[in-house]
Amino acid sequence: MEELDYLVVGAGLFGAVFAHEAASRGKKVLVIDKRNHVGGNVYSYEKNGIMVHHYGAHIFHTNNTKVWNYVNRFADFNRFTNSPVANYRGKIYSLPFNMYTFNTMWGVITPEEAEKKIEEERRAAGIGEPKNLEEQAISLVGREIYEKLIKGYTKKQWGRDCKDLPASIIRRLPVRFTYDNNYFNALYQGIPVEGYTAMVEKMLEGIPVELSVDFLEKKEEWMSKAKKVIFTGAIDAYYDYCLGELEYRKVRFEVEELPIPNFQGNAAVNYTDEESPYTRIIEHKWFTFGKDRAGKDLPTTIISKEYSAEWKRGEEPYYPVNDEKNQALFAEYQALAKKEEKLLFGGRLGEYKYYDMDAVIAAALQFSENTLR
Ligand code: UDP
Repeated sequence: MEELDYLVVGAGLFGAVFAHEAASRGKKVLVIDKRNHVGGNVYSYEKNGIMVHHYGAHIFHTNNTKVWNYVNRFADFNRFTNSPVANYRGKIYSLPFNMYTFNTMWGVITPEEAEKKIEEERRAAGIGEPKNLEEQAISLVGREIYEKLIKGYTKKQWGRDCKDLPASIIRRLPVRFTYDNNYFNALYQGIPVEGYTAMVEKMLEGIPVELSVDFLEKKEEWMSKAKKVIFTGAIDAYYDYCLGELEYRKVRFEVEELPIPNFQGNAAVNYTDEESPYTRIIEHKWFTFGKDRAGKDLPTTIISKEYSAEWKRGEEPYYPVNDEKNQALFAEYQALAKKEEKLLFGGRLGEYKYYDMDAVIAAALQFSENTLR
């Protein structure tokens, strides 16, 4: 019956890396995915010469040399550097928070002046050890930047007040006292020249993949086919939500093709006020510097507006809501998972984690080493 060594449920980054590692050690592997494409949420497709990030912008960045060398085995990366800008009520500010932002906001020129200004605002707010996202943000950049560039955006993205969110979310963002608009503090950064889908396809080369297959519909049958099952879907869905639903945010994209060469002059513009209904607009052509794969200028453009909303059963989950309540519920599901004999969970949904791509790959490589010993 168990003709497979590993059944991998989910053809996203975690599943693809594990499948690659298992197959290259001579294991018999099958990958299945309920979607009609591989790549999970990094899936990209080409339209009018433009590489479109179907499930939202993915910019690969890492400090992990091992991971960088690993992904470069499957794709050539361009030198794209993420420098999003914030649009707050029609005024543009640089992101992440750096000397350009402080200069536009307050007219300060030197790092010393900027630090002094932030220190004043921090003192006025009287915050000790930050207990939530609002306190963390104010102690990092002061109240004015919090009000203009963080509060509205975060409320729209998470559907919760900044006081009810963990400080850790905002710690993802760098604050620097240099004139440097590079969003990430990463040694390596770029976008696969042929797109993420081609990269994942290369990882899965030679491995059987079945698409449009819903594992959960025939769970018992699938479970009987393999010695081990690696499940990268949502852990609560696997257990049929028996302990309750974990909360996720979902993102809805409104995609528009426009007959103009340049809509917003940048890959990402964040709308940080509370009033605009979307959180950000992505103009996909700028991930490849406005050119197609042959290096020709693209005459038209494709944009996607991102709307954030609470996830409901049956929809695509995007961001896990890592607050205490959800972490506690996740721990209960993990206790169930520990009892499984042939089933292992992994990836953003399986581990209920706000994962960057490089961290998913690092985790999948570590998991492969532990599992395939
Ligand atoms: N954030 C913000 N203003 C911005 C961009 C980000 O307040 O213009 C906050 C927001 O709380 C968000 C968090 O920083 O959830 C992390 O942002 P990041 O850009 O890392 O989110 P992602 O790209 O993963 O959606």
